[in-house]
Amino acid sequence: MIELRNVSKWYDKFQVLADCSTQVARGDVMVICGPSGSGKSTLIKTVNGLEPFQQGEIIVDGTSVGAAGTDLPRLRARIGMVFQNFELFPHLSVRANLVLGQVKVLGRGREEAEARGLHFLERVGLLAQQDKHPHQLSGGQQQRVAIARALAMDPVALLFDEPTSALDPEMINEVLDVMVDLAREGMTMMVVTHEMGFARKVANRVVFMDQGRIVEDCATEAFFGAPRSARAREFLARII
Ligand code: ATP
Ligand code: MG
Repeated sequence: MIELRNVSKWYDKFQVLADCSTQVARGDVMVICGPSGSGKSTLIKTVNGLEPFQQGEIIVDGTSVGAAGTDLPRLRARIGMVFQNFELFPHLSVRANLVLGQVKVLGRGREEAEARGLHFLERVGLLAQQDKHPHQLSGGQQQRVAIARALAMDPVALLFDEPTSALDPEMINEVLDVMVDLAREGMTMMVVTHEMGFARKVANRVVFMDQGRIVEDCATEAFFGAPRSARAREFLARII
């Protein structure tokens, strides 16, 4: 479903991704972890074309992300992304946030888009908030709206970049619970997170990055049981 082949990226002379290869199969939940600055956000953003890369290839559901002529807005609609800071449109109501992409990118009619949007808003438990603006919601609620908005686009996979790291502790679980449900329903997910409890519970794969490289790429149990690299062992010792 998602395949990265020897992806490398440089900012000037600084190599931010070095020969990164991995595969995500349909229904996989991959957690990506590693120290700050190791390239996690950059890696995940290359998958939906938000970050260009100079070498290698990324194939998403049969489409080559870096190829000339790839319809990036359409690709981004199929691969939803949820960010640390929610990134809702601040001037639009919750309902309008849910509708906009469906109408603009997928060409859906307003009525259908609204029905789908509200269906997913109900799923994340926020139907009653549809007329509010993002600033009237808590961080956890905003993040759940962002997830509902991504789901309304019928994505084949979802990318998450530290979706809970900007939240107060009491709001982390309401977002993680939604993600756990999605994972259990078979949604294909790549999740950058330091929530190792979440990783243990729902990920089937863990990737550990260090200095732009994928240092470990293994089954969750193997990662937590006996990480092969000293770097991953140190990381786990600090974080758990
Ligand atoms: P964090 O855990 O702090 O979010 P990360 O693993 O997501 O870190 P990235 O944000 O992918 O790391 O950044 C990887 C490296 O690339 C860092 O050293 C960062 O300073 C560098 N970098 C990121 N964006 C740019 C840019 N626009 N220009 C130059 N260097 C950049
Ligand atoms: Mg990051």
